[in-house]
Amino acid sequence: MHRLQNSRIDRAVSLPAVGTLLNEPAYAELVTEYGRSRVVEAIREQIASERSGEADGSQRHAAVASKLRAAVAPNLRWVINATGVILHTNLGRAPLSRAAMEALAVAAGYSNLELDLVKGRRGERAALVGGLLTSLFTCESALVVNNNAAAVLLTLTALCRGKEVIVSRGQLVEIGGSFRMPDVMRLSGARMVEVGTTNRTRAVDYEEAVTSRTAALLRVHTSNFRVTGFTETASLDQLREVARRHDLLLLDDLGSGAMEQVGDEPTVAESLQHSDVVTFSGDKLLGGPQAGIVLGRGEKGADAVKKMARHPLARAVRIDKLTLAALEATLSQRLTGHADQIPVERMLHMPVADVRRRAAMWSVKLAERGVENRLIEGSSAVGGGSLPEHDLPTVLLAVAGPASRLATALRQGSPPVLARIEKDECCLDPRTVLKGEDETLIDAVETAAAALRK
Ligand SMILES: *Cc1c(COP(=O)(O)O)cnc(C)c1O
Repeated sequence: MHRLQNSRIDRAVSLPAVGTLLNEPAYAELVTEYGRSRVVEAIREQIASERSGEADGSQRHAAVASKLRAAVAPNLRWVINATGVILHTNLGRAPLSRAAMEALAVAAGYSNLELDLVKGRRGERAALVGGLLTSLFTCESALVVNNNAAAVLLTLTALCRGKEVIVSRGQLVEIGGSFRMPDVMRLSGARMVEVGTTNRTRAVDYEEAVTSRTAALLRVHTSNFRVTGFTETASLDQLREVARRHDLLLLDDLGSGAMEQVGDEPTVAESLQHSDVVTFSGDKLLGGPQAGIVLGRGEKGADAVKKMARHPLARAVRIDKLTLAALEATLSQRLTGHADQIPVERMLHMPVADVRRRAAMWSVKLAERGVENRLIEGSSAVGGGSLPEHDLPTVLLAVAGPASRLATALRQGSPPVLARIEKDECCLDPRTVLKGEDETLIDAVETAAAALRK
């Protein structure tokens, strides 16, 4: 005990002052790179851990430099998604196409965001994508906002405030933790009239709830769950009939905005056959940036969209210039028949044979480097609150070893790799690993496996 105290005192006495260290050329270099205050703070931390005996002084400069590097490293980092979940909410949902990324760079500088270059007059930022949207979806009018939650809020606020909106009890969904339909409805100032039950709602339930204060019927796609068994929902064409008879708006919150049939996901085209206003996300199945897309069909829909665009809330939820650029590029790719260049689209349609070939290539390379592994059949998921029960057959590479420790090592590696644990094995799904990431992934797996063997 006595000795320990003495050695602590010895250590304290021999520790240099912060000011002395700062005068040394090696630390002065760090000041030039990271700024004086950060370096002072890092040195203080290092000296404190030397005093407490946690660190020794032999590697002091290297330890300070590494603290500084860590302190200025960006918090937002590129990660490799090997989870097999295409629209991974924690990983930023849809990865953008190369064209969309290039468009981001254009919008980052000065651009003609709100300038009509031909006439030299002020232009509308929304006009940059309005035409693309109406052509792509064959409808009368379109509007883009910050995200789909904002699109729904704006729809209800601009069109239904102070009036009643009829919605099925089976569709009062919560999406992504904080977007609850009843809350959004309250916030908009529209009065929600719930009809039917959790599992069954018929067209007649809507019909009977119509009053002179009713403004709209709302259908909400139950994106992230399915009610199975004894169920019944009113179809959009039945709702169309009710809306027509009472001169009401038919609003459809689609969520995903699928362009073609995937599982039981309703498509935008189907919705537009019946609804006046359709809303969905830009970064779900469309495969673009975070955005809320509003489409208006027919005269009624076009009037509604015009009203929404003029509402003060539209300014508060307006789309950002970077998003707009990426969205324009994504929509152009779809319109010109280059949807296969959109990562989400490619992943959705990747044949299992291609996945298998890639997994086999990884497997051979890893085995050559002494990393034991095997291939197993499995399934990928669409994710992002889309198609909860739709599985895509896939081939997984399972790395031999303690699954959870391997997954942690991969997640904490550089770049971080997100794996999936299945049946107690650490699995990597090639479906969601982007083009060009294969070699980096193989290196990361080798590093993680080696670290565990130590
Ligand atoms: C995802 C989703 C939303 C929210 O969309 P964000 O773009 O995340 O704001 C709203 N409604 C439905 C039905 C959804 O699936």
